[in-house]
Amino acid sequence: MRRLQPLSRTEVASHMLLIDCPYCGVRPELEFVYGGQAHVARPGDPAACSDEQWADFLYWRENSKGVHAERWRHTHGCGRFFNALRDTTNDHFLATYRVGERPPGTRS
Ligand SMILES: [Zn+2]
Repeated sequence: MRRLQPLSRTEVASHMLLIDCPYCGVRPELEFVYGGQAHVARPGDPAACSDEQWADFLYWRENSKGVHAERWRHTHGCGRFFNALRDTTNDHFLATYRVGERPPGTRS
């Protein structure tokens, strides 16, 4: 019978996904919660928009293969929301940035 050996702290750290909170720095993924697609604009006047426009705002999201702008929350840290660019094909975070900032590599 093979006994399982517990992983050392270094081994655990090398297998854990790390996310760079723009307010706190690099932390383990376990401290974060995914918050959906980033940069989804709410209609200016919900009462004036059509049912289709309102449904698009509530339910329609991109499901792209590749780089995706996402909203995340550092729930077990500072508690703040921020945005991230993540490659959905390999789960790599390319950049994180504060809410209100433009994604890195884009122009205003
Ligand atoms: Zn944080």
